[in-house]
Amino acid sequence: MECDKCGRDAVHHAAYSGAHLCGDHLCASVERRVRRRVREDSLLPDDATPEDPERWVIGLSGGKDSVVLTQILAETFEQDRRVEIVALSIHEGIEGYRDESLTASERLTDDLDVVHETVGYAEEFGVRMDDVVEDDPENMAPCAYCGVFRRDLLEAYAEKHDADKLLTGHNLDDEAQTALMNVFEGDVRQMAKHFDASLGPFPERNPTDRFVPRAKPLRDVPEKEVALYAHVRDLPAHITECPHASEAYRGEIRDLLLEFEERHPGVRHSIMSGYEELAALAAERHRGEDSETDEALSPCVECGSTTANEVCRKCSLLASLEAA
Ligand SMILES: [Zn+2]
Ligand SMILES: [Zn+2]
Repeated sequence: MECDKCGRDAVHHAAYSGAHLCGDHLCASVERRVRRRVREDSLLPDDATPEDPERWVIGLSGGKDSVVLTQILAETFEQDRRVEIVALSIHEGIEGYRDESLTASERLTDDLDVVHETVGYAEEFGVRMDDVVEDDPENMAPCAYCGVFRRDLLEAYAEKHDADKLLTGHNLDDEAQTALMNVFEGDVRQMAKHFDASLGPFPERNPTDRFVPRAKPLRDVPEKEVALYAHVRDLPAHITECPHASEAYRGEIRDLLLEFEERHPGVRHSIMSGYEELAALAAERHRGEDSETDEALSPCVECGSTTANEVCRKCSLLASLEAA
């Protein structure tokens, strides 16, 4: 097959759009979608200036998604001093896994001349995921602990860097999986949260807001195209899966979606466009309740982060790990 744009050999056929694209034209198309998302979600407010720039913290795991996102945004705003980018990597303490992806993250940020910071569960919390998996005092999947710790660190460091937004590399497949999981679980509140947390356009951030707004500029791009982008541009992305990964339910949804996409091209896109509308309605409907919960939120007595309980989830997990 030949590229629709230039006639060279195509590396990709997107069944949902009918396009055949060569490496260069696939990359250009991915970049266009990310930039459009940045524009449509109003990630860069009009009043950002080189003197008072918009600061984005990007969660950089060293996997293909966050590597591609960092690469595209750093190149897009290379000459534009209204945007400052800080890449943040988290070391979970998983032997032989995170070290390689940190090396990839360092190479990428060196190449791009982007500020890069690494924080670890060991230094921050005194725990390593390898030990957590061994003890497992709460008897739950390792990813559940890891998710709580990761969110806490991303939030804390976004705050520390005075970030205007926290960006993550979720792709179209990730987002369509999450959408389906929430629908299958009948979790309307989770939908509302999804809307509030990650969809623009973003309002001006109020100094009293508790959380740094999240954004996912890669969410229009299918996983396979992200992987191809990293491959074509020879980006230093680390592809090994976490050895503790055990999100069995998500795995089922992933397989189901891929099979369905094969038979009905475009289904991921249509799930997301419908879901975003649903999520907006859900957010509207639950808004009143949210403000009541807001008042019940207070600083965690252990660490000071915002929580609905006396002690936050992270601190209670750390306490039970300590007792194990
Ligand atoms: Zn081409
Ligand atoms: Zn706490």
